Amino acid sequence: MEYKEVPIPKIGHRDVLVRVKVASICGTDVHIYDWTRWAQHRFTPPHIIGHEFVGVVSKIGDEVTRVKVGDRVSAESHITCGSCYQCNNGLSEVCTNSKLLGVDHDGAFAELLVLPEHVLWKNEQKIPDEWATIQEPFGNAVDTVLAEDVSAKTILILGAGPIGLFATGIARACGASLVIVSDPNDYRLNIGKKMGAHIAVNPRKHDVTQRVFEATKNIGVDVVLEFSGNNQALNQGLKVIAPGGRISILGIYERRVNIDLNKEVVFKKIRIYGITGRKIFSTWYKTSRFLSAGLVDPTPVITHQFALKDYEKGMKLMKDGKCGKVILNMPTPV
Ligand code: NAD
Ligand code: ZN
Repeated sequence: MEYKEVPIPKIGHRDVLVRVKVASICGTDVHIYDWTRWAQHRFTPPHIIGHEFVGVVSKIGDEVTRVKVGDRVSAESHITCGSCYQCNNGLSEVCTNSKLLGVDHDGAFAELLVLPEHVLWKNEQKIPDEWATIQEPFGNAVDTVLAEDVSAKTILILGAGPIGLFATGIARACGASLVIVSDPNDYRLNIGKKMGAHIAVNPRKHDVTQRVFEATKNIGVDVVLEFSGNNQALNQGLKVIAPGGRISILGIYERRVNIDLNKEVVFKKIRIYGITGRKIFSTWYKTSRFLSAGLVDPTPVITHQFALKDYEKGMKLMKDGKCGKVILNMPTPV
């Protein structure tokens, strides 16, 4: 990965040129930076990475109608086709032709970015730049939490990375009666408490299963939200779901997972939701309202800010897990 000057991208009739103000680092960016096995199979260089951002529209193509010059925008990172079976059935989050911003399409870790107008999201005035840039991962958390109602429910959140931490705040805002967060990283568990977790447990130091049963009078939790991508955590989660409960899985696993389907799923009659991306754009409306109405304050999760040229400092913090969200500021203030 290198930091360098590139030509200003050109726009087509339905495209928009955005001057990026602030971007934020996602795990995907770290995978590409690290050139992991996933990145080697999925990413064809050279491309500009980054898909979480807020910026200002600086130029529009002659057929653009959704935004105008000066609008403060973020974007849905899945550049969907709008014509496949899924797109035509209100399921564009699983569009079979979708291109990923910052992976297949030049991304947001740059001063200027070109996007088709249909993925742009006009930001609510009240939402500051540092919050606007994290709406994309916040949306992942919204869909994971709200796959079903959570009011007065008991919840176990596995993994207190940025998305699990947002989910903690969202679950509380939606009236969950008990939120337990598990992560081996104490730095992140502390942020979990600030986001409203009733109990924060480190699986390296304590028995998560036992803590959950103690806290739920041996019933188990109604809901498990899986954000760790860890097979062991997933099994812990399945074990403590009360029969008849549900699990939503956003975490991505390095290898095939092993679970006891008969015992933990079928006979317990639990519902499993696979969650990917966000609903476009209904989740963006919810996200925007959670933030602008003051229902969730994401400030504790936003732990670091660097200039874009110092992106490597951010990548290192992310690899070490000594951070929540890391924000990158563009060299030219907008
Ligand atoms: P992250 O890697 O920052 O967070 C994962 C957390 O899980 C870390 O804090 C880690 O310490 C913790 N963890 C590891 N082992 C654990 C265990 N045994 N028990 C409890 N916690 C454990 O990731 P993130 O950015 O917050 O994203 C969460 C997950 O969602 C990741 O797996 C990511 O790849 C995935 N993701 C999926 C989608 C999608 O569309 N499905 C989108 C974004 C992210
Ligand atoms: Zn499609």
